[in-house]
Amino acid sequence: MSDERRRPAIVAVDDEEVVLSAIARDLRRGFGERYRIVRANSGDEGLDVLRELLRRGDQVALLLADQRMPGLTGTDYLVRAREMAPSAKRVLLTAYADTEAAIQAINEVSLDYYLLKPWDPPEEQLFPVVDDLLSSWEAGAALEAGGVRLIGHRFSRASHDLRDFLARNRVPARWLDVERDAEAKQLLKVASVDDDRLPVALLEDGTVLERPTVLELAERLGIAGQPASEHYDLVIVGGGPAGLAAAVYGASEGLKTIMVEREAPGGQAGQSSRIENYLGFPNGLSGSDLARRATDQARRLGAELLTLQDASRLRVEGSGRIIELTGGSSLSASSVLVASGVSYRQLEVPGFPELTGQGIYYGAALTEARDCRNQHVAVIGGANSAGQAAVFFSKYAQQVTMLVRGDSLTKSMSHYLIEQIEALDNVEVRTHTEAVGAEGDGRLRALRVRDADGSESTMDVDACFVFIGAVPRTDWLEGVVARDERGFILAGLDAKADGWPLQRDPFPLETSVPGVLVAGDVRARSIKRVASAVGEGSMAVSLVHQYLAES
Ligand SMILES: Cc1cc2nc3c(=O)[nH]c(=O)nc-3n(C[C@H](O)[C@H](O)[C@H](O)COP(=O)(O)OP(=O)(O)OC[C@H]3O[C@@H](n4cnc5c(N)ncnc54)[C@H](O)[C@@H]3O)c2cc1C
Repeated sequence: MSDERRRPAIVAVDDEEVVLSAIARDLRRGFGERYRIVRANSGDEGLDVLRELLRRGDQVALLLADQRMPGLTGTDYLVRAREMAPSAKRVLLTAYADTEAAIQAINEVSLDYYLLKPWDPPEEQLFPVVDDLLSSWEAGAALEAGGVRLIGHRFSRASHDLRDFLARNRVPARWLDVERDAEAKQLLKVASVDDDRLPVALLEDGTVLERPTVLELAERLGIAGQPASEHYDLVIVGGGPAGLAAAVYGASEGLKTIMVEREAPGGQAGQSSRIENYLGFPNGLSGSDLARRATDQARRLGAELLTLQDASRLRVEGSGRIIELTGGSSLSASSVLVASGVSYRQLEVPGFPELTGQGIYYGAALTEARDCRNQHVAVIGGANSAGQAAVFFSKYAQQVTMLVRGDSLTKSMSHYLIEQIEALDNVEVRTHTEAVGAEGDGRLRALRVRDADGSESTMDVDACFVFIGAVPRTDWLEGVVARDERGFILAGLDAKADGWPLQRDPFPLETSVPGVLVAGDVRARSIKRVASAVGEGSMAVSLVHQYLAES
């Protein structure tokens, strides 16, 4: 294949020759070395071009179309193009007068950006935007092309945990289902691995890991590192939005900062398919993209990130604060920020514990989406996270059924999500309904469902995603830091009541232990939102400065 063919394509569509030539020229100037710029004069021609590129196996990175065109409008074209190339970034070119149409298109086609004409100077108006979109496309493409090959059974919990770990830590990897992919069988034969030794991870250096634990795989991939120092100005526990924000601010303001994360940076937000209400991202962004950006930013500014390490105890020794880690090592700190968020609550009804990871998943488990193609998926819960999951899985599954205990979604879900759900033909919302059991034979086959009148029925499903609230996991702080009856950590004046030792009042985010602060969802009475977690994480750093200045 020639080099010209191998470069990923950017497809630009406009019926006005002058505009098309200008945008193609500028795109070529900015990105021509790495990307091939392909032009089309109408929406229909654009679809033909796209079809041909995909038929030849070319990658398509970005689709750009003018909104005002005879025949297919830019939005119409992007709706159809998205079905053919779902991972390509989508940009609408609009006149100022068409801004309203562009904003509408954000939902209709999950638009990534709308670009106002004229885009002069391109160095300011065009290049930074396209560069940013291409970077996130490249990150996704690299992940899918992936170095690690993981082979296993789809309905095996061990396979699911490894897949989830690789995806959430953004390790380039390819999943091969031994029952569906012929390549999986061949690879197992070459590597001389028996079926009963699955899951197996084939690494780029030729290493074959049979039935590895997540930690073993992480260690072989060099993800589970060791701290570089023994003492830090600030140790952050938890790498969700609150912890990441604190890492960015701590490091950028000269504090020697380390963030300890048990699973993967991004926390709950990292599992969101699309965050639409975070300020500054009018087109929404995926949680994985937010986590990637924040992690890069924290590292670039000098924060150390320690993943797959679990804080298991906090010790107070004079002015020192010691965080013990589950592996046996510990970190000494002048100050600590607890940003450990919340974890999904488990559904304690028959069949659910046994079938978890085998068709039942807590959280969005985005890695499962592709395997749900043409299947029936149930989503349990009526809050925003469940709504997002229903919208997301509707793109893959044949049918999505939401099981909601309350009488409507309005009390628990944001208006924008309710509107999106109502517009989807393949999403059914069953209110006054709860799951009372799960049935299966090594994999989920059906849910037992109870309706408002108390009658029970069986519903055949292939996968079930559960979002029934979350609880803080703060047992490791028992007896050291004051918590409320549900385990959320008290801060500020609430924490003072509990044997506060200093003359001054605690700072607003300070816990009952001076110099130990709390931010985000784990704080008692916090607002459970990405923006508030980010705000508190940032604010905590300025309070750490005040604490260090006076101690
Ligand atoms: C599916 C989903 C979609 C959502 N969508 C939106 C949305 O669109 N908009 C919005 O505003 N909010 C949304 N939310 C809520 C939002 O994600 C949370 O409010 C936010 O992530 C809270 O951030 P946090 O940093 O406080 O905690 P978390 O995000 O919970 O992160 C805490 C981190 O700490 C780690 N951790 C816990 N204990 C330890 C320990 N002992 N040692 C080391 N690490 C530990 C965890 O592994 C986790 O990564 C969504 C939530 C979910 C689940």
